[in-house]
Amino acid sequence: EDNRLGAEGQGFYGLMRTFDISRVVLGAAALGTARAAYEYARDYAREREQFGTKIIDHQAVAFRLADMSSRIDAAWLQVLNAARMIDAGDAVPRERVTAAAAMAKLGASETAMFSTWAAVQTLGGWGYSREHPVEQWMRDVKLEEIEEGTSDIMRLLISRSLP
Ligand SMILES: Cc1cc2nc3c(=O)[nH]c(=O)nc-3n(C[C@H](O)[C@H](O)[C@H](O)COP(=O)(O)OP(=O)(O)OC[C@H]3O[C@@H](n4cnc5c(N)ncnc54)[C@H](O)[C@@H]3O)c2cc1C
Repeated sequence: EDNRLGAEGQGFYGLMRTFDISRVVLGAAALGTARAAYEYARDYAREREQFGTKIIDHQAVAFRLADMSSRIDAAWLQVLNAARMIDAGDAVPRERVTAAAAMAKLGASETAMFSTWAAVQTLGGWGYSREHPVEQWMRDVKLEEIEEGTSDIMRLLISRSLP
């Protein structure tokens, strides 16, 4: 009894409140990998030459990098928005914080999955090889779409508080 955290029978709700914070942290971590993958692919594309052309000069490659950069920026703003709401404390209704945290996790983890996939694609056969870190990053960030509630569950939470 002395060691119990919170009121009896309220553990589930306490855990859910914790998730409102930890999902934002998870989103920030996922974006770290997303950004690393973007920078790795960008630098590789600037270096790699095929048939006399730097691969970044192919529009298909440059546009993929543009999508990575753009999606990382958007997800970063979602993470900052949720963090700002948490910092505001009781000034923001709980349901809004929960939805914003779910959006941050969903946006960041799916962006990280996209960004690491795009990095593997940009490196071609080397992307699949263990000589480069991007295949490992792609497998690592898959977890971010699963742990602390899957992407399906994030969509469920968001759908329950549609404006
Ligand atoms: C390596 C690893 C580390 C982990 N670390 C943590 C951690 O630190 N913290 C933590 O909280 N959890 C952690 N987890 C657990 C993780 O949160 C769960 O695996 C996750 O919530 C999914 O639960 P489940 O595996 O039981 O899958 P299930 O609940 O069986 O889900 C299977 C599939 O059904 C879908 N589904 C289930 N219910 C619904 C629903 N109501 N609506 C729509 N779709 C649904 C899911 O989205 C998924 O696609 C970790 C898991 C792994 C593998």
